[in-house]
Amino acid sequence: MKVDFHCHTTASDGALSPQQIIDLAVQYQVDTLAITDHDTTAGFSTAQTAAEQAGVKLISGVEASCDWQGHTIHIVGLNFDVAHAQLQHGLARTRELRWHRALQMITNLDARYNFNVVNLREKIDVLVGDGVVGRGHFAQLLIEEGLVNNAQQAFDRYLKKGRIGYVASEWPPLNDVVQWIVAAGGVAVIAHPDTYKFTNNKLNKLITDFKQAGGQAIEVVNQSQFNANISRMAERAVRHGLYGSMGSDFHRPEHTWRGLGWLAAMPEQVKPVWELF
Ligand code: MN
Ligand code: MN
Ligand code: MN
Repeated sequence: MKVDFHCHTTASDGALSPQQIIDLAVQYQVDTLAITDHDTTAGFSTAQTAAEQAGVKLISGVEASCDWQGHTIHIVGLNFDVAHAQLQHGLARTRELRWHRALQMITNLDARYNFNVVNLREKIDVLVGDGVVGRGHFAQLLIEEGLVNNAQQAFDRYLKKGRIGYVASEWPPLNDVVQWIVAAGGVAVIAHPDTYKFTNNKLNKLITDFKQAGGQAIEVVNQSQFNANISRMAERAVRHGLYGSMGSDFHRPEHTWRGLGWLAAMPEQVKPVWELF
């Protein structure tokens, strides 16, 4: 069984259409897949027919942005009812917030005398297309405009906190987002726990609050190599009684270090999240 429970399509900020993601899953022999676009389930819905035809088991998914103690946290929702009204209302509201933030980012960047991207608004519109706007689009545009060499530079120079393009956003509280997913019959997962760069203590606090809200799982595996981070997260999952999820966070083929389904095995001591499906 080869699974990937975290990836993106053109329905949010990925480069491949839902159909192309299914084709890639077939190519890499991923048999169980969740499409987890940012704050939308449109990618999952579009891919359903293609997945059926290709024999790929497609689990409903989303990656929802939320706020916890002033930090932006990403919660992956898996295996829920996509028609659930409360969840869809919440996600729609977050998508509005995302455009609100993007327009403010454009205003900020346009105001900078040496930021020489003309028609930033139009270019972002074209790049986003039918997707959900995010900072990843801005990073991609800066790369395409030759202003930076890679996404890391785009964040470091323009997009991260303290830089001209940074705009704080008021995401819905963690509690709400977890409860939407649970109300829709799904499993809530803390996405890429290492990326928040929390101390052990703080990550434990996040997990405690997350569990209290009804959260059940954490991403234990998000890379192809087994390493210290995976074993630390595995221990943490066991200690807190959380299920383990795994996902590549695939966005685009040129990110060669994040292939769809290129994941280390789930450590044996961790209960895999798919036991809940
Ligand atoms: Mn993204
Ligand atoms: Mn994320
Ligand atoms: Mn992601």
